[in-house]
Amino acid sequence: MTKFNELPISPMIIRAVEEMGYEEATPIQASAIPAIMEGHDVLGLSNTGTGKTAAFGIPAIELIQESHRHPKVLIICPTRELVEQVATELRKFSKYKEGIKIAPVYGGQPIDRQIQLLKRGCAIVVGTPGRIMDHLRRRTLRFHECDMVILDEADEMLNMGFKEDIEEILKALPDDKHPQTILFSATMPDAILKITKEFQTDPIKVQIKSAQRTIDTVAQMYYEVPRGKKVNALRVLLNHYDPELCMIFCNTKRMVDELSEELNHHGLKAVGLHGDMKQAQRDRVMGQFRDGKCPILIATDVAARGIDVDNISLVINFDLPQDHEYYIHRVGRTGRAGKKGKAVTLISGKKQFRDLKEVMRDTKTNIAKRLLPTTQQLEAANRKNFIIEVLSACNEGVNQDSLEIANDLLAEGIAVENLISALISMNYHNEVIDIEDSDAVRRYSREFDAVKLNLNVGKTHGIQTGNIVASIIEETGISAGAIGRIDVRSNFSLVDVDAAKVDLVLEKMQGAHIRGQEVTIQIDEAPKRKKAQEKKNTAKRGHSQARHRDANSKSRKNDRHRGGSQAKSSRRISNRKKR
Ligand code: ADP
Ligand code: MG
Repeated sequence: MTKFNELPISPMIIRAVEEMGYEEATPIQASAIPAIMEGHDVLGLSNTGTGKTAAFGIPAIELIQESHRHPKVLIICPTRELVEQVATELRKFSKYKEGIKIAPVYGGQPIDRQIQLLKRGCAIVVGTPGRIMDHLRRRTLRFHECDMVILDEADEMLNMGFKEDIEEILKALPDDKHPQTILFSATMPDAILKITKEFQTDPIKVQIKSAQRTIDTVAQMYYEVPRGKKVNALRVLLNHYDPELCMIFCNTKRMVDELSEELNHHGLKAVGLHGDMKQAQRDRVMGQFRDGKCPILIATDVAARGIDVDNISLVINFDLPQDHEYYIHRVGRTGRAGKKGKAVTLISGKKQFRDLKEVMRDTKTNIAKRLLPTTQQLEAANRKNFIIEVLSACNEGVNQDSLEIANDLLAEGIAVENLISALISMNYHNEVIDIEDSDAVRRYSREFDAVKLNLNVGKTHGIQTGNIVASIIEETGISAGAIGRIDVRSNFSLVDVDAAKVDLVLEKMQGAHIRGQEVTIQIDEAPKRKKAQEKKNTAKRGHSQARHRDANSKSRKNDRHRGGSQAKSSRRISNRKKR
């Protein structure tokens, strides 16, 4: 553990850093600060949240001894947020060092204003590659006095397509006394190595391997979610954890958009952030998130890179990241500054479960299994909350208006219990979010002895599983639960049916029509098909089948979820009235 006063930095900065609440230097700071202070080129590799800003920011401030007309330090960051973040942080470090001017420059802001700012002179420029290039071309920015250049989130800048800009900027630096070149990155792709080779001189590599620091303080959990129910499960979990600030990660921009729309549709205040957004939009989104107006931020890994918001209490992996390294980046967003954080990962299906196991292995972390609440539990929770609400309303005493209405109602001769019951059913909507496995086929198929039937209709007849289910239910009147796996092949289909219903199905389906195709049906005598093949088909089949079934037969289950209990209670009241 290294204290700041053990590092070669001036008392003014130590004082400022202590005021910021930093007690000890982080590993990357402890290693990089001395190397940079000694004048070496440095290549720093460490994950998000390990304190890189101070690692280069403190030496940058130290370098400034007087006021400068042209920048002595150039810091290049990928996004406007990062530029602002770094500039703000640097101003804090330099609190007790007078007259250090820091100029942030980035796209999306009127260039004239920036030109004015630069004209007044500044010691440190923090900017995005594009805008720095812009100023270079206009000659509103000159680097002949530049002694230090810092690339923050270098890999990210390359990802974002800033390679040429960066190279051009680095080439524009004075040749005679090439400035000290510092490069920070979370990963080390070849492109970074290339830049290092070309633009750094004997760089000292500072690499902080351990991911421990970032996720030690994070409780990590995963939930298995039925296919197609992730959004619903997410809503349930957001209710359950009720986070102050929450970050949700998706793998695609499209999912970011869809998810934020979906959550907002359900009254959850979420905003999305991804690479396609204009700078002004990004700023707005980050502002809304930071000040808690929209406490849920949905982002892709790339868009979220480097963004530093401290008090995120919950991170949700809506999908597992393609690159397992990112799991640590994501989870490291919470549990910062000694606070406890939670990270939740949603997985659906075997493939994702395998991915999860791999993530655990690759990142050497344990992610604990948690169970989603059952529908009954959700209903019970609703009921309990309702009772609590009513009790607390009772505690508020009697309201005159209400009392008068109550008396009017009683004057109608209605029994008190009827009255209460009616009022409750008017106010109590026991709606629960559906997170049950609607892929019921697979579950049911285990619950009866199945007989495999062979129907002469298949894909070439335009038949899908849903058509078969709908038709069997319609013709035979058996419940969907008596139908098991359905395998639609090109010219025929295989259907598992409860042995107890087989005769009925054979009788009624013989000669029936499915999508205009006359059906011939018999018990399947084909030899057992290869297991692997069957497994593969089942996964696909079960899913679409269940969906079709919901749509076709207006599933009872859905009725129950969509306020079905309310319907139930009103029935009870009308029963009572009849009596
Ligand atoms: P990185 O650039 O590596 O992602 P940051 O520089 O943004 O990390 O720092 C992440 C967070 O940790 C910030 O909130 C920062 O204020 C805090 N931090 C940095 N260094 C220290 C330290 N030595 N002690 C405590 N907190 C720190
Ligand atoms: Mg950073």
